[in-house]
Amino acid sequence: MADTIYAPSSAIGGAIAVIRISGDAAMQATRIFDRGFTAKPGYLRHVKCMAGEQVIDDCMAVFFHAPHTYTGEDMVEINCHGGPMTVQTILSLLGKQGFRPAEPGEFTQRAFENGKMDLSQAEAVMDIVSAGAERSLNAAILQLEGGVKDAVLEIENRLTDALSGIDAAIDYPDEAEEDTLERLPSELETAKTGLNALIENGRRNRVLRDGVRIVILGRPNVGKSSLLNRLMNEDRAIVTDIPGTTRDILDEKAVISGVPIRFIDTAGIRNTRDQVEQIGVDRARRAAETADLVLLMLDGSTELSTDDRNLLEETNGKKRLILLNKCDLPQKMSLPDKEFLQISAKEGLGIDALRSKLLELTAPGSAEETIITNERHIRLLELAEEALNAIPQNEFELDCAATDIRDALKCLGNITGSDIDESVIDQIFSRFCVGK
Ligand code: GDP
Repeated sequence: MADTIYAPSSAIGGAIAVIRISGDAAMQATRIFDRGFTAKPGYLRHVKCMAGEQVIDDCMAVFFHAPHTYTGEDMVEINCHGGPMTVQTILSLLGKQGFRPAEPGEFTQRAFENGKMDLSQAEAVMDIVSAGAERSLNAAILQLEGGVKDAVLEIENRLTDALSGIDAAIDYPDEAEEDTLERLPSELETAKTGLNALIENGRRNRVLRDGVRIVILGRPNVGKSSLLNRLMNEDRAIVTDIPGTTRDILDEKAVISGVPIRFIDTAGIRNTRDQVEQIGVDRARRAAETADLVLLMLDGSTELSTDDRNLLEETNGKKRLILLNKCDLPQKMSLPDKEFLQISAKEGLGIDALRSKLLELTAPGSAEETIITNERHIRLLELAEEALNAIPQNEFELDCAATDIRDALKCLGNITGSDIDESVIDQIFSRFCVGK
């Protein structure tokens, strides 16, 4: 019998707090009320929470019978007043009933273990809680509805069929149905095409979960911090006219048209003897390596310097947008590149055009076609694809092909949680918040 667990599911300190209890003994929570649950499951009941003769709080409580609950177990939810003292007192009363505090994500882990959702849906629950942008939330909801699960299951079924055809041919070579084996290459090809489409989908839409990483690069004093402030509409980065003031990396989150964006303002890149500044410059270069887009900023009111030229060369071939800042001043710069945007971070000129361009260059696919956003899922799909790619197109050994298909199925099982090590599951749920 699993322990009965409890946890506050809302932030403590609001007007109302929600405390959840789940497990076989959950109904015994009524012992802390002035009366039991005579009402129907799913109906709120007005109760008083008691410590012996003393009234602790006026609450609303509701119970749900297994298996039609979030966790698949008996559950009770208490809506009490949200003050920390009230919540703490009720929690300690629950502790005295022999229940134990829930671990982070334990309610959702139980939902997963009791077959209420697959692992991709459980992960979506956390994405919903942490979504900071409309498109991120929509993608997480689609995933909770089973978007990833269904897409993966379709490929899993195809591979399982192929595998049973091969197994039959190995076990009973004389009876092997020829057309089963003949169809095999095209079945595998269809599975690979499906995997590839999901991987591509994930690569485009990953940014909805993690945010589009945009690194602002440029030599000191060209106006990087001013641009960040302008885009964030707040004075978060330090703006001074002493070159080299932004020594490290600032990471700021913004939302443009429902898409989460992470702007990374870097130390100005120039040749420097200052060791601390050099560390910042190195970090800036590394950030640029992994960015979804580099904003290379130049000061249009000056002539192109050697540092500028080096940066243009260094970022050549990367996904980049050249910004010619300080367009409010007389312009002295002439650029070999034709593609650039003129802005003034200080005066706010060209900023709307810049926002549109950023979306155009980094935007994920349309809302309807968003399926995969989780880096873990993308990696597993890639591994599944690699396993299938190891099977030669023609003349393959049945044993080897079966092993490769099993490897691919193992990867897919890791996504849905149908074939996964316990330690991985624990690791995933440990990132959840308590009460979810
Ligand atoms: P960073 O070192 O690249 O981050 O540059 P800052 O944002 O700190 O700006 C350096 C200086 O340039 C400050 O004095 C800013 O006010 C000024 N500055 C930034 N953008 C503009 C602009 O568009 N026009 C003008 N005239 N000055 C700017």
